[in-house]
Amino acid sequence: MGQTHGFELVREQDIPELNTRARIYRHVATGAELLSLENDDENKVFGITFRTPPSDSTGVAHILEHAVLCGSAKYPMKDPFKQLLKGSLQTFLNAMTYPDKTAYPVASTNLKDFYNLVDVYLDAVLHPRITPDTLMQEGWHYEVGEDGELTYKGVVFNEMKGANASPDRVLYQATQNALFPDTTYAVDSGGNPSNIPDLTYEQFKRFHEDFYHPSNARIFFYGDDPPEERLRLLNSVLSSFSRKEVDSSIGLQTPFAEPRYTERTYPGSQDAKAMVSISWMLQEQPDAELALALDILEHALVGTNAAPLRKALIDSGLGENLTTSGFGLLRQAYFTTGLKGIRPEDAPKVEALVIETLERLVREGIDPQTIEAALNTVEFQLRENNTGSYPRGLSLMLRALSTWLYDGDPLEPLAFEAPLAAIKRRLQENPRYFEGLIQRLILDNPHRSTVLLRPDPGQAEREAEAERARLAKARESMTPEQIEEIRRTAERLKQIQDTPDPPEVIAKLPTLTRADLEPKIKTIPIEVGEEAGARVLYHDIFTNGIVYLDLGMNLRALPPELLPYVTIFGRALLETGTAKEDMVQLTQRIGRNTGGITATTLASALRGRSGATSWLFLRAKATPAQGAEMLAILDDVLKTARLDNRERFRQLVLEEKAAREAGLVPGGHQVVNTRLRAQLNEADWAAEQIGGLSYLQFLRRLAQAGGEGGRGVQGAPEGNRARRPNPPARAAKGPAEPEGRRRSPP
Ligand SMILES: [Zn+2]
Repeated sequence: MGQTHGFELVREQDIPELNTRARIYRHVATGAELLSLENDDENKVFGITFRTPPSDSTGVAHILEHAVLCGSAKYPMKDPFKQLLKGSLQTFLNAMTYPDKTAYPVASTNLKDFYNLVDVYLDAVLHPRITPDTLMQEGWHYEVGEDGELTYKGVVFNEMKGANASPDRVLYQATQNALFPDTTYAVDSGGNPSNIPDLTYEQFKRFHEDFYHPSNARIFFYGDDPPEERLRLLNSVLSSFSRKEVDSSIGLQTPFAEPRYTERTYPGSQDAKAMVSISWMLQEQPDAELALALDILEHALVGTNAAPLRKALIDSGLGENLTTSGFGLLRQAYFTTGLKGIRPEDAPKVEALVIETLERLVREGIDPQTIEAALNTVEFQLRENNTGSYPRGLSLMLRALSTWLYDGDPLEPLAFEAPLAAIKRRLQENPRYFEGLIQRLILDNPHRSTVLLRPDPGQAEREAEAERARLAKARESMTPEQIEEIRRTAERLKQIQDTPDPPEVIAKLPTLTRADLEPKIKTIPIEVGEEAGARVLYHDIFTNGIVYLDLGMNLRALPPELLPYVTIFGRALLETGTAKEDMVQLTQRIGRNTGGITATTLASALRGRSGATSWLFLRAKATPAQGAEMLAILDDVLKTARLDNRERFRQLVLEEKAAREAGLVPGGHQVVNTRLRAQLNEADWAAEQIGGLSYLQFLRRLAQAGGEGGRGVQGAPEGNRARRPNPPARAAKGPAEPEGRRRSPP
């Protein structure tokens, strides 16, 4: 077979549904695999991914992900990653550690910038300068305090202490560990703070040598850059390597003979709530058709508030909100669901309810309207292929890896037309196709794992004590010289961190010149018109045949003290039903006839003027053929939403509260940022009232009031509707965010 720049073509295929030509290559000398997607998307994406299954919870994969971005042979500065963030036109630049892989993706619309990013990233992963100092800085090291006591420091050590303060993360991790106890998924690839200090430099260095090799790499290109140049460029980097046997295989979990139950704790007060997850490891490997069917089934079961499994769990009143629910694809596929905000003693009830509900769905059948809505929603998402501000190519890379990483066909998850048609055919022949999947994959499957996560008021102190004892023991065995050495090392690390790289080193990093920049700013066309007294903004741009409509309600018409109601009010419009249908029927109607309708808010300072603008938008999308029904739904919702549906309102409050609480620890820096900025101007103040800590405190008050019968909270949303300015302003057809782009989070 012929070679081009050291690569042999393994296969090529057109994927018309993505306007893409796909070519799979193998680098002959090293065995590196390349998936090259050619199309006219200017937002070019490159990614290199290594299979990195860890065998312990020292966080070695995660620490290495940080470490390789701390300077390399060609770019020997301390932090090329931060330099790139500052000086590049990147549309994506990051690295991600998963339970079994580490991915390094970049994206840019500027070709020269794109090549710069590719060059820096390839050098970073293949030729990093990882020294004992890197492990100490990014992983862990000792410091000696004023009192002579030892403490642990380190970027990932601290990061994971923070991450584990989130019970949602602890449950997620525990669920995975319990479902796959004999595989790499039994350990925490992010690193457990009690295991991170076990990691030695030898193990750390070895992990890089073992896994960060072209023979263990899956490389991805996507976009409108010249395809042959991809091969030339890669070969110039890969040609210095030769093939190596890398064992990064991921073992299969042997199925359980019977269901298992695990209890875990998290540091929480006596009266804090518990969480329970119920999960099944699937006994078959999904092919393209089954994988797509699982997407649709997930949407039908838990994807909307009308989805019967979600609804049964919420209606039970046993908890506040669902745990992460749906099908997941690791080496083996699984299904998980559950409830948080429960009393620990109710866990068996939740488990029984999940199983009973699934049994009932098989017995009585899933409402065909729910199936139709799920199918339409998933199909719409696939055809729309709109990832918002996230590069399309990156979402395709991650989708391809769902099979590719396990030596499957990377094109299988991308080409959706054939499997979609097959599922529709099957459904026509057998209307109970999805019920059959529930029976076969879930109910008949003994590989079930239930995990209860309960609060333990003593845990934080116990863990701190264990850490102190471990440090004290380490200290005892040290000589005064060793202590002095630790002191000197910590000082040296600090000094390195505080010393900027010399300009001549920074200058090695490739940068753009003014000539590389597009001199013209791209603008979005806007026509401003009026219809029946409402201002209409119209954007005529290419949208893949989809109509986007934002219907805005000016929140300045509201008294400021009602701002905290806005999010709940927006959801209540869409999630309580209308005069002619209940919540389930309305949700089905939206799912069957549109690409989705959501409520979203905007609070922004005004350019060139003082003051602020603040809006509640109903954001809808549909094909042109669905346009009239989309408008009819909006009309019904605005005029006749069942805002007097108290039970639904109570559920919305609890769901919102649980969701905001779950976001508190992982997004703590943003909560603080929003809170601080709220003091500085009106727009940020409004944003904080609508979605910040003030909103959470408001929800907690409402939840408490709701527990006592819900009096006193009902008047406000109705009042809210009465005050709705009429007629509203609109923004029709255009990109996903046509008017006043939402500020990106800090
Ligand atoms: Zn990290």
